[in-house]
Amino acid sequence: MSDIAIHWFRQDLRLSDNPAFIKACESGAVLPIYILDDDTAGKAKMGGASRWWLYHSLKSLNDSLKGHLRLYKGKAADILPNLQNIYGAKTITWTRCYEPWRRQRDEALKEQLKQKGVTVISQNGSLLWEPWQVLKADNTPYKVFTPFYRKGCLQSAPAPAEPVAPPADMVFAKALQEEAIELEQLDLLPKPPIPDWHLSLEPHWSIGESAAQKRARDFFETGLQGYKMGRDFPALSHISKLSAHLHFGEISPNQLWYWAKEAAQIMQDKGQTIDADIDHFCSEIAWREFSYSLLFYHPDLPDTPLQKSFEAFPWQQNDVALLAWQMGQTGIPIVDAAMRQLWQTGFMHNRLRMVAASFLIKNLRIDWRIGEAWFWDCLVDADLAANSASWQWVAGCGADAAPYFRVFNPVLQGEKFDKDGTFTRQFVPELAKLPNKYLFKPWEAPSAIIQDCGIQLGKTYPLPIVDLKRSRQQALEAYEICKSTAFAQSEHK
Ligand SMILES: Cc1cc2nc3c(=O)[nH]c(=O)nc-3n(C[C@H](O)[C@H](O)[C@H](O)COP(=O)(O)OP(=O)(O)OC[C@H]3O[C@@H](n4cnc5c(N)ncnc54)[C@H](O)[C@@H]3O)c2cc1C
Repeated sequence: MSDIAIHWFRQDLRLSDNPAFIKACESGAVLPIYILDDDTAGKAKMGGASRWWLYHSLKSLNDSLKGHLRLYKGKAADILPNLQNIYGAKTITWTRCYEPWRRQRDEALKEQLKQKGVTVISQNGSLLWEPWQVLKADNTPYKVFTPFYRKGCLQSAPAPAEPVAPPADMVFAKALQEEAIELEQLDLLPKPPIPDWHLSLEPHWSIGESAAQKRARDFFETGLQGYKMGRDFPALSHISKLSAHLHFGEISPNQLWYWAKEAAQIMQDKGQTIDADIDHFCSEIAWREFSYSLLFYHPDLPDTPLQKSFEAFPWQQNDVALLAWQMGQTGIPIVDAAMRQLWQTGFMHNRLRMVAASFLIKNLRIDWRIGEAWFWDCLVDADLAANSASWQWVAGCGADAAPYFRVFNPVLQGEKFDKDGTFTRQFVPELAKLPNKYLFKPWEAPSAIIQDCGIQLGKTYPLPIVDLKRSRQQALEAYEICKSTAFAQSEHK
């Protein structure tokens, strides 16, 4: 009987460009497993939309593995050593994860298994560069994106590893009678009495490795040209929508990195230059890397402002306003369109994530961590590193953050980035007939126009829950208080 190698799938739900899985296949008959470890995740346990995605992704991975994926639920720290024992596995492989709770767990497990004489192989398969490969000359991590990317990644770090093909040969270990469970038993989908909210997500996504590759190919063929400009306009298809595929590891950033360069070559052969678009796309992938570096070096990133002065910020508790924001009923059309896109599709366009987050933090002055938690539950691409780094960025308390005093004006944002209202009308159909001039500020429309369009402000569509100008001013004043409180506290130290 050949040796048995366990490959523990986590955020690498694919067979191609998966160096750790290849190592397992080379080491013997492979036992592919997935463990849903909510117990160890604690507060970072996956939200509802992510769980829905995971359900379909595991289904797809199991098909690629010809039905050999074994599923477990519980503490990985108990389950993995137990499986190693039952199967007598000599090798265990996994792709590295970077969330603090996973790192802590994996380090302890590695030590424990190694002491038992097991060969444990952990490899990079989720990032272009490991966080420790991108450091400043003095070996400290970068806090500003542009030097992180231009100097740290592009000039100093080694080139990202070229993607590798899926294993040519997969021999699977014979499953024993241990307690693996069925996909349904992972309880990833909502069950009655919880409503079938996930059904509205289904038409928007194809999930799994081949779907991810198809989406990438389609994007490179039709969306990449014009990406730099077009990525800011939610009604256009110049974004890849690959974030959830990347998060679950159905596709690797290395594949995207090199395929983007190949796409550039193909365009060049056709006499078209898309260098600026490629450069911009690669730099967005690098924002993901930057977020991971921030999380790696600041494990409290999800909960604690990087700029400590923000600890003193006078946040407001306003449950009514929070609910209006969550439900897309704020009376500010672009914010409502964004929040409804999130609820209905599990995704929100990047520009709108910034606008909706700024509205919550600055106009409503609700703590960024509350918005972060809502996104965590609703986004199919919810990612601890990207979500917390981005919320801190919008709040102005993160690394290389937009300054707090830069408050997005949601009316101007709508007028600029959804000029003809296509996106807003799709998600806020009750305003569909309103002329563009008033679409983003219906409260300014003459009552005759409002009536002609079949709208009753305050009834069929809400009046704004805050005055944008006054709330902006109040936010700036609160910021001044927070700055001076922090200054006074530092003086007393
Ligand atoms: C408040 C807020 C919360 C966010 N939460 C998340 C999150 O939970 N998960 C997540 O993946 N992204 C998050 N982002 C970043 C960004 O909005 C999404 O990555 C992007 O919208 C995904 O769409 P796309 O795949 O079409 O992106 P594209 O424009 O096609 O970009 C390609 C890839 O680059 C990465 N990327 C792009 N922009 C960023 C960014 N600003 N930060 C980090 N990575 C980026 C993503 O992996 C993305 O798939 C958040 C942004 C904000 C402002």
